[in-house]
Amino acid sequence: MNRIDEKLEPILSEVLSRNAGEREFHQAAREVLESLGRVVAKHPAYAEDALIERICEPERQIIFRVPWIDDQNQVQINRGFRVQFNSALGPYKGGIRFHPSVNLGIIKFLGFEQVFKNALTGLPIGGGKGGSDFNPRGRSDREIMRFCQSFMTELHRHIGEHTDVPAGDIGVGGREIGYMFGQYKRLTNRFEAGVLTGKGLSYGGSRARTEATGYGATYFVQRMLETCGESFDGKRVVVSGAGNVAIYTMEKVIAFGGKIVACSDSGGYVVDEAGIDLDLIKEIKQVRRERIAEYARQKGAGKHYIEGGSIWDVACDVAMPSATQNELSGKDARTLVKNGVQAVGEGANMPSTPDAVEVFRRANVLFAPGKAANAGGVATSALEMQQNASRDSWTFEQTEARLAEIMRNIHDLCADTASEYGAPRDYVLGANIAGFVRVAEAMRALGVV
Ligand code: GLU
Repeated sequence: MNRIDEKLEPILSEVLSRNAGEREFHQAAREVLESLGRVVAKHPAYAEDALIERICEPERQIIFRVPWIDDQNQVQINRGFRVQFNSALGPYKGGIRFHPSVNLGIIKFLGFEQVFKNALTGLPIGGGKGGSDFNPRGRSDREIMRFCQSFMTELHRHIGEHTDVPAGDIGVGGREIGYMFGQYKRLTNRFEAGVLTGKGLSYGGSRARTEATGYGATYFVQRMLETCGESFDGKRVVVSGAGNVAIYTMEKVIAFGGKIVACSDSGGYVVDEAGIDLDLIKEIKQVRRERIAEYARQKGAGKHYIEGGSIWDVACDVAMPSATQNELSGKDARTLVKNGVQAVGEGANMPSTPDAVEVFRRANVLFAPGKAANAGGVATSALEMQQNASRDSWTFEQTEARLAEIMRNIHDLCADTASEYGAPRDYVLGANIAGFVRVAEAMRALGVV
C-alpha cells in the first residue's frame, strides 16, 4: 500500500471524522491524498492556506425531497442530491445518477473524482455530481417523466449554463435528460441549451456524446498499449456492464480488432467465445430494456449465462470494468493476473477496490484509473457546451477527432506526470497529481474562497 505523507495524515483524519460513514468518499479521498505526498514534498506551497483541506470540502451540498405520483396513484418520496464540489476551473459539471444505492457519500465520492477528471480534460469545467435513490427499474415511461419533472422542479434553482451543468450517469440517459430539460425550460421560460448535456440531437445535443465515454476509454487503453508496442488487435477483452459505457467500449474495441468474450449486467454475465454479438446486446439492453440472460437464451448452444458469480473469472488480455464502483475486488484482480491480464482500463468510476489496484500495481499490469480513462464522456459534454454557446453543431467525425485528441493528451499528461514524480507507468499517481495541480493553481490564484 502507498503510505500517506505525514503532513497529509491529519487532513485525511479530518476528512474521515467529518464525513462519518461515507465509505466510498473516504476511499476516493484516501487514494488522492496518498498520491499528493510527492507533490507537497516538491512544492510545499500547495500545502499552504489549507488548500488541500479546501479541495476535500465540497463548496455546496444540496439535499431535497422529490415527491411524485406513481401509476397506481400513490404518492412516492425519494431523496435528491446535488454536490457542487469545486468551481475553480469552471461551472460545476458532472452527471446525475438514479439508483437505489445513491446516498450522500456516493454522490460525494463521485463529485470528488469528477473534480480531478474534469481538470485532466484541460477544458474549463469544475466538478459536481447529483442523483437520487430512485429506482428506475420496472417503472413506466410516464412514471420516469413525472419523477424527472419533480426532481428538476427543485434542482432548477441551483443550476445554469454558468453555474452548474448536469448530465447523465447510471440510470440517466437521453430519455431522462429530455424530460429534465423540458421541465427546466418550462420553469424558467428559457431555452438555455447549455444547462444540461447529453441532450438529444433534435434539441441541442452533440454528436458522439452517447458513444464518448466508451470510445474514450478504449482510445486511452489503446494509447497505453501502444506505448508498450502493443494494440487491441487479436486481444481477448472482457467488459463488465451493458449500459452506455460498456456498449460503446465494446463497439470501439471491436473496431480496433479486439474480441469481446464476456459482458454482464447486475444479474449475471454472458460468455461467447465466438465474440459477443453487439447488435443483439444493443437490442436487448437499449431497445427492449431486458436482462442480459436473454442473450444466452436467444443465441442458444455454446453461449453461457452465469447468474451471479464474477465476470472476472473469464480469462482475458484486457479487462475494462464499466459497470459500477467497487465491482472488481482484490480476489478478482488476483484471478485476472493469474490468467495473464496485461491491461485494465476503468470505464466506470472507481470500479476497482484499493486491494485490486494494489494487486495490479505489484504485478506490473498496465492500469488506467477511471478518472483518466473515462474522462471522454465529460470532455464531450464540454464540447456540447461549446457547440451550444456558439449555436453550432459539429459532425460526428469532427467531434470524435476532438475526443481522440483529448484522450491522447490525458494519457500523455498522466504518463509524463508519473515519470516526472519518479513512478513511471503509475497512471493512478499521474492522474491524481496532474488533476490536482491544475485545480490547485486556479484555487491559489482565486484566493481563499
Ligand atoms: N457521468 C459522467 C462521468 O462520470 C459524465 C458527466 C458529464 O458528462 O457531465 O464523468
